Amino acid sequence: LFLIRIIFCFAQFLDDPQQPIEQYKPANATFYTLCRNSDLYDILETINNYNNRFNSEYRYDWVFLNDQQFTDEFKKLVKVSVAGHAYFGQIPSQHWSLPNSVDHDTMKENMQKMINDPDGAPPYADSMSYRHMCRFESGFFFKHELLQKYDYFWRVEPGVKLRCDVNYDLFKYMIDNKYDHGFTISMLEYSKTIPSLFETFRKSLVSLGLSKLLSDSRNYSGFVIDPKNGQYNHCHFWTNFEIGNLNVFRSKEYNQIFNELDKSNGFYYERWGDAPVRSLILSMILVKGKIKRFDEIGYTHPPYTQCPQEEGFRVSNRCSCNPDTDFTSKWFSCSGHFDGLEQQH
Ligand code: GDP
Ligand code: MN
Repeated sequence: LFLIRIIFCFAQFLDDPQQPIEQYKPANATFYTLCRNSDLYDILETINNYNNRFNSEYRYDWVFLNDQQFTDEFKKLVKVSVAGHAYFGQIPSQHWSLPNSVDHDTMKENMQKMINDPDGAPPYADSMSYRHMCRFESGFFFKHELLQKYDYFWRVEPGVKLRCDVNYDLFKYMIDNKYDHGFTISMLEYSKTIPSLFETFRKSLVSLGLSKLLSDSRNYSGFVIDPKNGQYNHCHFWTNFEIGNLNVFRSKEYNQIFNELDKSNGFYYERWGDAPVRSLILSMILVKGKIKRFDEIGYTHPPYTQCPQEEGFRVSNRCSCNPDTDFTSKWFSCSGHFDGLEQQH
């Protein structure tokens, strides 16, 4: 009898479609971080936080890009922390340098004016590398060879933190719900850094034959354009947390608009941030229902935090943030405005 039982069990084992236990099949997606070698210890803290809150479970890859070469020390320490595969790449110099059409004297004069602004210089007024970074994140990151094989990315910066568990696969959530872009915090941009951005943007759309997008009720133009005067309301998705479909950035429309904007050299003559540039373009080319505001993701990029308000949620997701510090209700948050648009949809 004992022998029969063993044979029976073995036959069952062969029969059982659940055997061998299937490995988790992740989405075709990766984390993505742009950083310097000097960001090593901040990014290690962040990677461990993302493991603890999300990635130990799903083991997504992580792509690291840098304008310089990553050191062996950086790669060694980062590799052992990332739960999935870690890849390290250098940015081609043509994606991180002044275009030939930039007039150096004009650029330097404008930079000096911004630094000497009698009402105070805006952040990074004097930084050349910040300007390269903003242009790279607006028009080139998705062209890097290490990102080519993926469909979705989740951007992370050194020093950011998830403040609650994300106990579902956020990439699959995006895909299953047909979202192309997701964000946590949105806010108003410093107008001193983008004096000519919107006019250049408007003219770019006109010259591309895309001006109808500026007042299309089907896209997110209402998120960025003030209906009272047709001007930019300065709202943008904060780009340090974003989860998105790379195919949107690879699209003809995105690149046409970026290239047209870039011709004016506003990234250097002014100090256009990647967040307002990308928010303007995405708001034109994505139709309503494609952008998701993740209000339940606890998240900190100093100095701001998004913290879910509901106590039950904070208990079941082990949140560590103080709900009183939540950014959502601050006057320069654009989240209420975004929710209002979604309700009309
Ligand atoms: P902020 O969030 O606007 O204050 O700007 P950050 O200093 O956080 O920069 C945004 C992102 O670009 C972060 O992921 C930085 O690590 C990265 N970054 C900024 N400047 C440079 C740079 O000169 N080189 C590299 N490799 N990364 C940079
Ligand atoms: Mn940052």
